[in-house]
This record gives sequence, structure tokens and C-alpha cells, in this order.
Amino acid sequence: MKLAARVNQVSTSITLAISAKAKAMKAEGIDVCSFSAGEPDFPTPKHICEAAKTALDQGKTRYGAAVGELKLREAIAKKLQKDNHLNYQAENIIVTNGGKFSLFNLMQTLIEPGDEVIIPAPYWLSYPEMVKLAGGTEVIVNTTAENDYKITPEQLEQAITPQTKLFIFNSPSNPTGIVYTPDEVRALAKVIVEQDILVVSDEIYEKILYDDAEHLSIGSINPEIFARTIVSSGFAKSHSMTGWRVGYAAAPIEIIQAMGKIQSHSTSNVCTFAQYGAIAALESSQECVQEMLTAFAQRRSFMYQAVNAIPQLSCPKPDGAFYLFVDISQTGQKSLEFCQELLATKQVAAIPGIAFGMNDCIRFSYATDLDTIKEGIKRLSEFVAS
Ligand code: GLU
Repeated sequence: MKLAARVNQVSTSITLAISAKAKAMKAEGIDVCSFSAGEPDFPTPKHICEAAKTALDQGKTRYGAAVGELKLREAIAKKLQKDNHLNYQAENIIVTNGGKFSLFNLMQTLIEPGDEVIIPAPYWLSYPEMVKLAGGTEVIVNTTAENDYKITPEQLEQAITPQTKLFIFNSPSNPTGIVYTPDEVRALAKVIVEQDILVVSDEIYEKILYDDAEHLSIGSINPEIFARTIVSSGFAKSHSMTGWRVGYAAAPIEIIQAMGKIQSHSTSNVCTFAQYGAIAALESSQECVQEMLTAFAQRRSFMYQAVNAIPQLSCPKPDGAFYLFVDISQTGQKSLEFCQELLATKQVAAIPGIAFGMNDCIRFSYATDLDTIKEGIKRLSEFVAS
């Protein structure tokens, strides 16, 4: 069978593959400690489920507008105004099949052959693949642990060419958990405006912040950067709604209308009653978000200390999200073999850094319970010592 050439340009999502493998091993009765996908282990808060059930009972089971339910788009616009100081209206919002499809759709909308997209490494593994699938060229800018895996304004400026269309910015970051300070965000915004490129700000982890970390939405800095910004986000991480597939993008109307066109020929609307769950997530108390954050903070403290106590392993302290990006170079192994052997011999699942553009590191998601974390760390230290 001859498949389309574009399929051979990309690889399967390793995060999804390893987490599916860990789940299958568990189903077989194998005692796996999974630190694979970034998927909160909490059930979706009850009031959100109830709202979706009510929507089902009310017959919200039909096609809706491809860009999303107006009520949800209004609620998202209100949230972005209130929390992020971004002056969007409902017409600036598109509801998408998870945050992931907002990014995929955006690439289809903006990128064509010849366009370059700047992506700092380590990066979330789907960014370069989405660029390639749109026919664009990914320009990877390597960052270092010494600089907390942050791209500097100088690095960004140097990477820009006349072909540069878009910069992908993600803070708090997957896979490192680092958060850019407001001053660092302002410095990057200055380059974006001066060089007149676009930025997509992936803010899916904005609610998961520790200690004094602060999230500044890049588009809120001034009207010039606002006009060049597309925000991508969703409910999966903040409200533990990974399987619901409700995300969104916010952008100038022209971009949203174009994304709506693509959506009308691809996914159509996101599951209608799921959108009513998302409305409840935004319009009800945010206490559930805080409760999950308290648990993540406890796990982060434990896991950060425990990993750094293992000789040969080290990682920077994350300020956000729920990942540790651990340097394994002292072990003499590369990330793929390290993760394969760790899973085979100790039944501990982690994601090889090669998937994120750094082969000397591996990623642990600590969106899992403390007992699993303690047991996983014990096995990890035995593995490294062996
Ligand atoms: N974004 C999450 C992760 O990086 C979920 C899996 C995926 O979509 O890649 O683990």
C-alpha cells in the first residue's frame, strides 16, 4: 500500500504510545509505575460531569456551530479578559478538539511550504510534527539547563529569517516545567514585534504554578504584540478533563474565521454536551483547580528532591506544570535505551527526551499519586545503581 508521503515525515506520538503501553501492562496485572503522559490522575470534578449529564438530558446532542457553542466562546472570552488581561470577544474564540487540535488547525491555517516556525528545544513533541504536516519547516533553537531551558531574546532574534512566520512559545513548559518570568516574556515580545512575526502562546499549564511563579500572557503586554498573538489552551490539565477533548484558540478574527473554515471540513464542532461541561468548569468555583494544585505541589517537592538525591541524575526545579526533565548523561545511556530498560526491568514508564529534542534527558510526569511516586523513585534509584 502506498501511503501519502507526509505520513513518513512524522513519527507517532511517543507520549501517547508509552502511556498506552503502561496502561495495557497494568491491565495485564503488571505492577507499573507510570510517569508517562501528562494526565492528571484526579477524576473530573463532579459539578462539571453533572453539567454535561444535564446537557445530555436536555438533548444537547446535535450538531453545533463548527467554531463552538456561543455560550462557551463567551465564557472563554470572559475568562481571558479577567485572568489574562486579553481583550477578546466571543468572535475571537474557536473551541477545538483539545488544545492539540487548536495548534494543528492553526498550523494548517497559517503555514505553507517555505514558511519557517521557530521552536525552542526541548519542546512538546507534537509541535514540529504539526509544522511538518502543514508543509512548513521547523527551526529548532536549542536551550541549555544552565539557562533553565529558556530561549533568550538574542537566540530568538538570531533564528529569525525573512521566511519566519511563527514562534511557538510555551510557558509553563512541557517538558521542563520552567516558567518564564514576566520580564523574560516582555523581552521576547519586543523581538516579536520588532521583527514582525506571529507568536502562538500555548498556555495550557497556566494554572499550574508553584511558589512565587507568575504567568504573564504574552499578548497582554501591549496592542502590538496582542495583534500578533494566538493563544492556545484548554481544560485538560487545569480541570482534569483530558478525555473530554475541549480546547480553544483565541486570536484576531481573521485567523479564527479561517480556522473555523478548516474545522468545518475536519472535526466540525467539539462534542456538544462536553462543551456544556466546559462552561460549568469556567463558570463555577475554581476551588477544584486549587485542590489539584496543592496535591501537585506536594508531589513536586517530594519528587524533585528524591530525583536529585539519586547519584548521576539531576534536574532543574520546575516552577509550573507537572513534569521533571531529568539529565541522565552521567549514566552513560541515551534516553531511548534508558526508558526501554527502565520499563522492561523495573516497570517504570517515563518518556525519552529524544522525543522532545534532547537525548540526554528523560521526562517524568508527576501527575500521579504519591505512593506510586515513592515506589517509582525506589525502583529508579535501584535501576541507576545497577
Ligand atoms: N500533552 C501531554 C503530554 O505531553 C499528553 C499527551 C500528548 O498529547 O502528548 O504528556
